[in-house]
Formats: sequence, structure tokens, C-alpha cells
Amino acid sequence: MKGNLIIISSPSGGGKGTLIREILKIVPNIGYSVSMTTRQIRDGEVDGKDYFFVTKDEFLDAIGRDEFIEFAEVHGNFYGTSVKQVEAEILKGNDVILEIDVQGAAIVRKKMPASVAIFILPPSFEVLKARLTARNTETAENLALRLRNSYDEVNQFEHFDYVVINNEIEPAVNDLKSVIFAERLKRDRQTDTIQGILDSFDVSKF
Ligand code: 5GP
Repeated sequence: MKGNLIIISSPSGGGKGTLIREILKIVPNIGYSVSMTTRQIRDGEVDGKDYFFVTKDEFLDAIGRDEFIEFAEVHGNFYGTSVKQVEAEILKGNDVILEIDVQGAAIVRKKMPASVAIFILPPSFEVLKARLTARNTETAENLALRLRNSYDEVNQFEHFDYVVINNEIEPAVNDLKSVIFAERLKRDRQTDTIQGILDSFDVSKF
């Protein structure tokens, strides 16, 4: 049985990073696709864990080698999802989370229609602004850019299968976990297992 591709998008400051970290701790058989980016590394980030941090030339080379399932320019930097990262997890039978922006989500949905797309929505613009400001990771200019872009991003919610409103962490983690587990129970995802069970029904002697 192949794992599910789970796309998770939200505007910057929507809290998806925190929710995903919790999900990876509590849900079995799930992996995370580490993206490649040209963005500057932030304090506390680890190369190869949070992202593969590369120069623009290295990123362009990777595009040339066709290494990405999707890539996009987001808030002035490039980000891309590596084919290798995703395939390795899926072949192990694990679900794999792609934490990508709405442009990347649209590309993956087109290429892989069986993927599951979840949008994390903050409870309000005020909360988003407060979270992003408190995170204190962006320059004033970049913070403003991310807030401006959030309008177009939240308006993409219609292209997602599920919306999780991230007001408080615990209920939002539970919602996300419920979606992931429910998706694993979809009939079409269990055809081989179901067939094995049906084949055991030898009722000819009864
Ligand atoms: P940040 O700079 O805050 O880590 O990420 C900025 C935005 O880029 C977020 O919306 C994040 O989800 C998105 N992003 C991260 N990795 C990828 C990727 O591989 N592809 C795309 N399209 N977006 C990504």
C-alpha cells in the first residue's frame, strides 16, 4: 500500500510549522519532505532538517536536472519539493507531508490528483499579524510583504480538500490528525487489504 501525499499550506504565521511538528511526533508512518530554498537560514534552523539551504545558482541547477515535483517563488525566494525526498517516503508506505505554498499546492494537485490538500487558516488577520510579528524572524519589509501576500493566500482555500482553523494548537492538531487517519481509511486506499479479507470468505461448506 502506498502512502498518501499530504499537502499543507497556510499564510506565513498561520502556525503550520508548529502543527506539523506535533503531528510528526504523534502519528505513526508519516514523513516530512524537506524542501530546498534560496532563503537565508534563520537562527535555530538546521540545514538538511528544516530546509536544504542553497544559493540561487544551485537551485537553478536543480531545476535543470529536473529534481523538483514543484517549485515556486514565494515572498521573494525560491522553494522546491524534491522528487527523491517524496518518493523515498511513499515507497516505504509512509504518508508524506509537503509543507508548501498555495502555488506549489496547485502544481502538486494537478500532477498528483490523489494527494490530500489541507489549508491551515488562522482565526483572523489580527492573530496572523500578531503571530508573525512575535516570531520575530523577518525584517520589517519582509514582514509587510508576507502580510500583504496573506490576502491572496487565504483566498486560495477553495482549492483545498480540508480547512483546519488554527485558533488553539491542541484542537487544531486533533483536527489535522483526524484528517490524516480518515484519509487512510478511504475505501480506494485499502483495496488490496480488503480483497485479502474477502478472499478468506470460503463459505462453500456451509
Ligand atoms: P518560510 O520562508 O516561512 O519558511 O516559508 C515561506 C513559504 O514557502 C511558506 O508558505 C512555505 O510553506 C513555503 N514553502 C516551503 N517549502 C516549499 C516548497 O518546497 N515549495 C513551495 N512551493 N513552497 C514552499
